[in-house]
Amino acid sequence: MIFQTILSNKKLLTACVIAVVITICAIVVPIAVVNSYDEAPKPSKFSGREVLDEVPLIDGHNDLPFSIYLVEKNLINHFNLDSNLKQHPVWANVNTSHTDLPRLRQGKLGAQFWVAYIRCADTQYKDAVARTLEQIDVTKRIIRKYPNDLKYADSADGIMEAYREKKLASLIAVEGGHSIDSRLAVLRLFYELGVRYLTLTHSCNTPWADASPVDDQVPAPSLNNLSAWGRHVIWEMNRLGMMIDISHVSYGVMRDVLAHSRAPVIFSHSSAHAVFEHHRNVQDDVLRELARKRGIVMVNFYPLFVGGNTIDDVIKHLNHIRSITGVDHIGLGGDYNGVAVTPEGLEDVSKYPDLFDMLADGVLRTGETFEPWTREDLQKLAGLNLLRVFREVERIRDSLVEEDPFEDLIPYEEFVRANVADQPCLTDMEMHKS
Ligand SMILES: [Zn+2]
Repeated sequence: MIFQTILSNKKLLTACVIAVVITICAIVVPIAVVNSYDEAPKPSKFSGREVLDEVPLIDGHNDLPFSIYLVEKNLINHFNLDSNLKQHPVWANVNTSHTDLPRLRQGKLGAQFWVAYIRCADTQYKDAVARTLEQIDVTKRIIRKYPNDLKYADSADGIMEAYREKKLASLIAVEGGHSIDSRLAVLRLFYELGVRYLTLTHSCNTPWADASPVDDQVPAPSLNNLSAWGRHVIWEMNRLGMMIDISHVSYGVMRDVLAHSRAPVIFSHSSAHAVFEHHRNVQDDVLRELARKRGIVMVNFYPLFVGGNTIDDVIKHLNHIRSITGVDHIGLGGDYNGVAVTPEGLEDVSKYPDLFDMLADGVLRTGETFEPWTREDLQKLAGLNLLRVFREVERIRDSLVEEDPFEDLIPYEEFVRANVADQPCLTDMEMHKS
C-alpha cells in the first residue's frame, strides 16, 4: 500500500531514489577509499601529449620554404599545403618532405620558426641578399594563403595570441650570416620584415664568424672566431630584439657570442656533443655557459648529428642536456625539411606527441628506463622555455631603446684576414678601407 502511494507520487518517488543513492554511496565510497589506502601510492599518470593542449609546442627550425624553392621554384599559387603531400606525384618522392598542414595538425604544433635559407656555397658575396628576400617573401605568402591555419607572429605575445586562436603561430628566421652580406643595414631591414632570429653562419665561414666545420679541419686552420665587427652584429641584434642563433657556428664563436651577447641566445637546431661527437653538436662546457646566460638549446633530430636513427637516440640527447642544464634550457628544433633522413619514430612533423608520451613514461623503445619528465618539465620543453628567452630578448631590446644604431662598416682587413678580399661581384670595396 505504502509503495503504491509512493509510486503514485512522483516527487516522493524522486526523494526515495535520492535517499537510496546517498545510502549506497555512504557505504561504498568509504570502502573504496580504505581500499586505495591499502595499496602503495602511485604517482599520478598522465600521457605526455596532454601537455600540448596546455602550452604551445614551439619548434625552432623547419626548412619548408627551402623545399618550396627546390620543388616549386617558389611558385605557390597552385601548390596545396593543405593536402597529404605523401601522395603528391612530385612531393612524395622528395626525401626532405616532412611537412604539410594535415601532419602539422596531427603533430599538435603551436608555433613554428620557418627558415629563410639559401645555400652559402653558391650565393655568398653574390646574390645572397636577394635570394634570402625571396625566401622571406614565399614564407609570408604561404602564411597568408592559409589564414584559418597559420597566423603570422613576430613576438612572444604573438605566439600566444595565435595559440589561443588555435592557429599555428608562424615566425620567420634567417639561417646563415652570409644572408646579410656583412651589412648591418640588411640586418636591420630583415628585422623590419619580421625576421626574429639569425643563425650567425651556415656551413661556410663569413668574414666575421667561423662555421662549425673549422672544428674538424685537419690540419687545424687559424681561427678567426667572432671578429671585432662580428661583435657589432650581435650587439645590433641585441638592440633590435632579434634572437641570436648559434647553431652551425664553430666552438670558438659559440664561446665568444656567449661572452659578449647582452641577451640570452639560442641554438635553434643542435644536439649534445657528449652523446655524439659531431661539430654541429654542443659541448658540455658551452651548455653550462648557455644555461648560466639563460639561453636555450632546441634539440635537432637529424640521425647524422644524433648518432643513431631512432626516437630513442633523440631522447638520449634530451636526457643528457637535461642533466647538464636542467629543464629550463631545452627545446625542440626538429630540422624537418632540412634533412634527407629522419629517425624511426620521428619521421615527420606529425610525431611530436609520441615523443612527449615517451618522455612522460620514462621508457625507451628498447625497454630501458630513465627518469620520467614531469608535466611541468614537458611544458617547458614544449614552449615555455623559448617563450621565456624570447620575452627576455624583447625586454633587453626595450631597455636599449635610447641606443643609436651601430653605423660602422666591416673593415677591409676582416675580408683579408678571412681570405675573401678578392670578390668580383662586390662593388666599392674601397669604402671599407679607411
Ligand atoms: Zn641547419
